[in-house]
Amino acid sequence: MGSTHRYIIIGAGPAGLAFAVNLLRKGEKSFIILERESQAGGLCRSAVAGGYPMDIGGGHLLEANNTRACKFIFSFLPENQWKFYIRQNGIFFRGQLIGFPFEAHLHQLPEKMRDEYMDSWQKAGAKHGEPCPESFVQWVKWQLGERIAQDYLLAYNQKLWGKLLPELGVDWLHKLPPKRTDKAQNFAAHNTFYYPTQHGFGEAFLRMAKILEGHIVYDCAVEKISGDNVVNGHYKGAKIINTAPWHTICADFPEDIQKLIGELKYTGVSVEYHHQRIDTDTQAIYYPEEDIPYHRAVLRYNYNRHWPGYWTESAVSKSQAAYHHRFAYPAQTMGRQEVLDRLFAWARGRSIEPLGRWGQWAYINTDQAICRGLELAENFTKGGLGVG
Ligand SMILES: Cc1cc2nc3c(=O)[nH]c(=O)nc-3n(C[C@H](O)[C@H](O)[C@H](O)COP(=O)(O)OP(=O)(O)OC[C@H]3O[C@@H](n4cnc5c(N)ncnc54)[C@H](O)[C@@H]3O)c2cc1C
Repeated sequence: MGSTHRYIIIGAGPAGLAFAVNLLRKGEKSFIILERESQAGGLCRSAVAGGYPMDIGGGHLLEANNTRACKFIFSFLPENQWKFYIRQNGIFFRGQLIGFPFEAHLHQLPEKMRDEYMDSWQKAGAKHGEPCPESFVQWVKWQLGERIAQDYLLAYNQKLWGKLLPELGVDWLHKLPPKRTDKAQNFAAHNTFYYPTQHGFGEAFLRMAKILEGHIVYDCAVEKISGDNVVNGHYKGAKIINTAPWHTICADFPEDIQKLIGELKYTGVSVEYHHQRIDTDTQAIYYPEEDIPYHRAVLRYNYNRHWPGYWTESAVSKSQAAYHHRFAYPAQTMGRQEVLDRLFAWARGRSIEPLGRWGQWAYINTDQAICRGLELAENFTKGGLGVG
């Protein structure tokens, strides 16, 4: 057997890195990170396309309202190397670009269409005191009315979730903007955000990884963890922190646990670079219509006028796309909480702690993944060093 550590961290994405950095800041050095890829950053990694930065896990913005996460990230990539933005997005709908969110920009549609959608809006169940449904599909109809739901938000989500759409619940809906008909852009996550001025989003995580040098093993995909906490037959840990999709690490888990893991559903994303220019001031465009193969475009020249081109995100695996991620969105299906409770109880009994988007199977953004990593390290090191 190889090396022994207090903590083995699976995955060098934002959650694993934040956890590890905080361990180090608290004086704990007995840890190792095992990372499948040859670079840190997870879904937040960036590359160069057309000569300038591109985020290879899709467009990534730093939520400006999360002061703890911002302070942490700025300690690696200083605040003066980020630009502050007010979110400005568009929706490409029936051949024209309208503002986001849809329901606040009905006036931009042709008159007949506008009237039909206003009618849908007026008839929405939520407006008439009907109880909130438990399925996402019904919830969208309840919020927006049948027509807006079918033509816009369900059509968009169909592209994102495919056949999983009817299985989604409603307990993740803090991700969506609250419904509103005024034009103010003051909605939900990322109303205001930061993006680096000279780099892609991934730069901050490369810098984090730098201070963890010697603690990260790259190109090391965890496949199995034995009953006595030996990872890949080589690394032994008193505690294992898992930030990776459970499906990838479970080869040695008991059959009933593998079966539970199989009930956790997810979708992927393909990211593709285009060097043309789309003439708009918006930072991102959503595409609900079926005949357009992607669901979102991110226009980087609206972050930085020297960076031409844009990239698109599609849930359908495209063999020609430069970047495809099998695990992009952990599906928030109805009934998954019970599965997670059983899985986590079993895992904790084996000293495996879930963390982050995949470990906790939570549809969270980077800032939240970071905060969860920081908090977990605090909990484990409370009252001095050692495994909590
Ligand atoms: C299209 C898209 C757009 C997004 N936009 C934003 C945004 O604008 N703003 C924002 O804040 N967030 C955004 N997010 C969410 C953000 O990417 C995640 O919240 C964040 O990356 C979660 O960090 P994590 O460390 O939990 O997971 P990940 O980033 O997924 O990191 C997990 C790490 O584990 C590694 N790994 C996986 N399997 C194994 C294995 N078996 N062995 C070893 N290592 C393994 C992976 O390579 C990866 O490095 C977006 C996500 C997507 C898909």
